[in-house]
Parts: sequence; structure tokens; C-alpha cells
Amino acid sequence: MEAVSTSRRDFLRKSSIGAGTLLLGSALSGWACNKSSKKLGIALVGLGNYSKGQLAPALQHTTNCYLAGIVTGTPAKAVEWSAKYNIPQKNIYNYQNFDEIADNPAIDIIYVVLPVFMHKEYTIRAARAGKHVICEKPMALNAQECAEMISACKNADRLLSIGYRLHFEPHNMEVMRLGQKEVLGKVTAIDTGNGFVYGGDPNAWRLKKALAGGGGLMDMGIYAIQGARYTLGQEPVAVKATQEKTRPELFKDVDETVFWELKFPGGAKVTGKSSYNNNWSYLHAQATNGKFALEPAYGYGSLDGTINGKPMQLPNIIQQAAQVDDFANCINANKQSRVPGEEGLKDMKVVDAIYRSLDSGKWETI
Ligand code: NAD
Repeated sequence: MEAVSTSRRDFLRKSSIGAGTLLLGSALSGWACNKSSKKLGIALVGLGNYSKGQLAPALQHTTNCYLAGIVTGTPAKAVEWSAKYNIPQKNIYNYQNFDEIADNPAIDIIYVVLPVFMHKEYTIRAARAGKHVICEKPMALNAQECAEMISACKNADRLLSIGYRLHFEPHNMEVMRLGQKEVLGKVTAIDTGNGFVYGGDPNAWRLKKALAGGGGLMDMGIYAIQGARYTLGQEPVAVKATQEKTRPELFKDVDETVFWELKFPGGAKVTGKSSYNNNWSYLHAQATNGKFALEPAYGYGSLDGTINGKPMQLPNIIQQAAQVDDFANCINANKQSRVPGEEGLKDMKVVDAIYRSLDSGKWETI
């Protein structure tokens, strides 16, 4: 830990990074109620694309926590990251000596940014090492693993959070408000989709079921499932799904494009889709007295939304900075994150049921 010496002016200066990009909401409230607390040290485990391209840069703009350490199996990355982010040798670990992190008071939070099949193991080992944990999405290979991770963190008395950055993002927070508070009346229908055209390595872990748990559904569909859940503020009870493969030679082990219909207790008609072969990122909601939409809805670039066709005019922020700052705040306040492990488990129950439905061709209970 390191003492926070953040003044309001300092915070506002830090928040004016990049044209049109602001740190708002939770980050600001974090400053307000956290100014006498400690700045927590985060160690990133797995220095792949997301850590390198998004998390480490975002951690240069946080107020309640900072990039204190790394865990990597590649010595060259250790050298590069140490120089770039001023990370001392004593805070650099590899996969062999990872558990020794238990003895390092400079690391308060371990952020698991590994392929999905490693999420459970490293979350549990991090909690047993006495650290609070953020685990990237999708939380694990299946709901059973999620339950084990939640219980390991509870037993170790450590907080667990999932990397659900959109819960801190103004446009997505707005659809939560519009839908859950029935601002335009009751939501009667939602259509949502998320995907991209996979053009990467045909041998990557993302295309292997044992390593990724599945394809576009696990990686991208999880956002569309969440989008429907947090717009309605309800949990789905059943699902029916179908799939399509246009590049079966590439997606021989995992799903390419999946379509589903979800039954919610309130009766809203909810359709969703995920893909590794279509560029989708949208959520359209119809309510009894109007409609609202996000498009793009789920990325970490610039998002946009409308209410009855008029722009929402909300800022785009550094989502990951707001997300991790809020978690640090929760640790200091000893309270559960708004995106705890239980939130990841709820999504994985839906994912598991979608895969069962693809196998059975029938409606499956969630
Ligand atoms: P990546 O393949 O770029 O990085 C994975 C890292 O894990 C690499 O550094 C790799 O060296 C390391 N690794 C260690 N052991 C490994 C093993 N046995 N096999 C393969 N890699 C191993 O992946 P990524 O895109 O950074 O994704 C990592 C996690 O972050 C995934 O869970 C992904 O879903 C998530 N993610 C989240 C977001 C988001 O917006 N929240 C965005 C991208 C990725």
C-alpha cells in the first residue's frame, strides 16, 4: 500500500485525459469518501493483449489503486514492464513462484487476466495468498467453477470481483436506470448482440473449448446476456438457442454464432446473439411508453445511446480505471463490489443453459 496524497485539483487534472474522456461517477465518489485511505497495489497476472493494451494504461489514471506488480512467464516482458511502469523487481513474479506473493504487503489485489481455463486456479490461489481478487470475464469454464471460486474467496475472507467494466460506464448505467426504474414504462422487449469477426491465430486458446470454455458465446455473448439482465433487473428462468457455422474449419471446437431467446419472469421478449463472425455491439429496448438503445453498446471505445431516437449525450470514460478504483474503494470500505463473483456466476448459469439447449434443441431451465 502507499499513502494517497490526492487533492481535488490533482484528481480533476488527472481526469482530463484524452479528448472527451472523463473519469466520472464512481471514481469521483471514490475520491470523496476515500481521501484518507490507502492507495492499494494491484498485480496483473497474465500480460497479454488486454493487460497491455487496456488495464496497464488505465491503471495510470486511477486514484485509489496503482499498478504495483506483475506475474508473467516471459522474462522479456518482466524487463519491458518493469522499465515502462517502474515496477520493482521484488513485485515481479512468474507462474512457479506465484504463491510467494502472499508475503508481499505491496500487493493488495491480484487481477487475473489469463485464458479462461486458468481463472479458477489463479483466483483461488490468489485468495489463499491473502489477496483480494479481480477475475476477468468470462468468470470461468462453467457455473460449477464459479461457485468454487466464490466459496474459496469467502473462506479466505477476501473480496472477489469480475472485470465487468460496463457497470461503471455511463451509457450502460443509463440503460440500467431506464429499464429497472421503468422510466419509459415497463420494458416489453429487448434485442441485443455482441461479436466481432475473428481474424486471429487459428491455434489460439480462444478457439479451444478446453481452454476457453466455448467460442463467441463465452467471450462476447456474456455481455449481451448481462445487457438484458441489467436492463430488466431480473434473472432469466429459461433459454432456447440455435447456432450457425460459416467457417467450420476454424470453429471446429467452439461456437461461431449463437442465437437465443430468454424467458424472464416479467414476460419481456428477449432475444440475443453472439458471434466470432459478425461485428455486433447493440442493445435495443422497447418499453410501454418509448424506446432506448445503445450502439455501440459493449466495447471500451466510444459508446453511444439514444432515448426515443435522441442522443443520450453522456461522456465516454476510461471504464477500467473506474472499475478498479471502485473495487479498491470497496476493499477500503469493506463492502461487496457491485460486480461480485455472484454476478459472474449468474451469467455462467445462463451460458451453461444455452450450451445445453444447443445440444438438446429444446428450452432449458436456467
Ligand atoms: P491474451 O491471449 O492476449 O493473453 C493471455 C495471457 O496469458 C498471455 O500473456 C499469455 O502468455 C498468458 N498465459 C499464461 N499461461 C498461458 C497458457 N497456458 N496458455 C495461454 N496463455 C497463457 O488474452 P487477452 O485478450 O488478454 O484475454 C485475457 C482475459 O481477459 C480473458 O479472460 C478475456 O476474456 C479477458 N478480456 C476482457 C476484456 C474486457 O473488456 N473486459 C477484453 C479482452 C480480454
